[in-house]
Amino acid sequence: MTERHLNYIAGEWQPAFGGATFEDRNPADERDLIGLFPDSAATDVAAAVASVASAWPAWAAQSPEVRADVLFKAADLMSLRADTIAAELTREEGKTLNEARNEARRIAANFRLYAGEALRLNGETYPSEVAQLVLSLRQPVGVVAVITPWNFPLSMAARKLGPALAAGNGVVFKPSEITPLMGQRLVEVLLDAGLPPKLVALVQGKGAKVGQAITAQAGVDALTFTGSYAVGKQIAASLSTDTRVQLEMGGKNATVILADASIDKAVATIERGAFGLTGQACTGTSRVLVARPLYAELVARLEKSAAAIKVGPGTSEGVQMGPLATRAQYDKVRAYVGIARDEGGRVVGGDALPETDPALAHGYFVRPAVVSDLPENSRLWREEIFGPVVAIRPIDSLDEAIRLADDTEYGLAVSLVTGDLPSVLRFARETQHGIVKVNSPTTGVSLNAPFGGLKHSSNQAAKEQGGANVMDFYSRIKTIYLGA
Ligand code: ADP
Repeated sequence: MTERHLNYIAGEWQPAFGGATFEDRNPADERDLIGLFPDSAATDVAAAVASVASAWPAWAAQSPEVRADVLFKAADLMSLRADTIAAELTREEGKTLNEARNEARRIAANFRLYAGEALRLNGETYPSEVAQLVLSLRQPVGVVAVITPWNFPLSMAARKLGPALAAGNGVVFKPSEITPLMGQRLVEVLLDAGLPPKLVALVQGKGAKVGQAITAQAGVDALTFTGSYAVGKQIAASLSTDTRVQLEMGGKNATVILADASIDKAVATIERGAFGLTGQACTGTSRVLVARPLYAELVARLEKSAAAIKVGPGTSEGVQMGPLATRAQYDKVRAYVGIARDEGGRVVGGDALPETDPALAHGYFVRPAVVSDLPENSRLWREEIFGPVVAIRPIDSLDEAIRLADDTEYGLAVSLVTGDLPSVLRFARETQHGIVKVNSPTTGVSLNAPFGGLKHSSNQAAKEQGGANVMDFYSRIKTIYLGA
């Protein structure tokens, strides 16, 4: 029996208007149909926005303790359900069970952090010559649309839903069509924790259809999006000018290895950043700049350790890297491996896993790839691949490292492996990236520290994650002059 999942609109679980559906399949075995989900369109969006618009003022008028309480309960429920949801995440997105558990278990911490922020939605007072007292009051924005990608389907959504609800907003949530079940699980947790039924709407479906309908729908006061630059740009162009918008997009992140670095540490740092989550993290390492004296040894060591990574279904014991999340991702990664070869690069790995292995024959498995000796202006060096492919290039100075690390349209995360403090300080100050990590991979961030990129990685409306700074996007300030 195929499971048929539903939207959640106006407090009711319901199919898309007209009844259309789309399939959700397991990337480790595409014969495994997880379920059918509503293929929603503009009519569903209109109903969702109308119901959320009717519900948020009462939620905003509640005491902050009530809002915090719901998020604390959601955190407890998420902790209880984390392992079950993690298994579903592996089935739906492909990441290993370890990676899935890490993601699912973090959601509780995320909800707790924002539960606290509900109680700290502070304003300020200002000395004034025109009134007895001038103060700023933070109020909700209203209806917040949340559009998320598939690679961290729980944490990308929780880091938006948590602060949006804490600040007193209502939410229309459209998860990625690749991971609709994870979107549903998050909404179930919030509803079971006592969220008012009409305050959140879950609208499942395709980006080009329901996603676009959200950007065209009147009544959306703010939209927060994480995904590709191409889609982010399209969203920004189609929104009305009075809709507040936050866009977090791609990266072409580099790790720099200076001459004093230990090769062991360099290999471990690159491997985690480049091949963790099958290379499908927006902060993933796709370029390495290494001091020339270490180049040959680092290339050889990385080739060897990448070849030893055990690739397979995320549920299997000992597997270190799961499949790519979709057939499109699989085709894209393999195409880039071909491009690297055509460009004259030395490529080790990157091939599809033998389809003769029955456990792998129906999934999107590729070996991690290490690419060296690329020419200048290589496409592999410039374009975001979003897969387990890392390109390596030698450098001759810190100046060159900074110049080449920043020689990209993106500016999300960059990392540096060295013990040389003056180099660290100069690099950290000068690089055009939103996140700089020293002696650690480009991936892996703290949920209580500001997150966001520069250049094409973000529209830089407000940082995500972190504490009070997050509320700048989810609330607006009214200035009140009190006279007597
Ligand atoms: P990714 O492939 O990394 O998920 P996308 O940018 O393609 O990146 O998708 C991110 C999210 O944006 C998904 O939920 C997707 O359905 C949605 N989306 C795609 N196209 C549009 C669009 N034109 N308008 C609004 N949302 C869209």
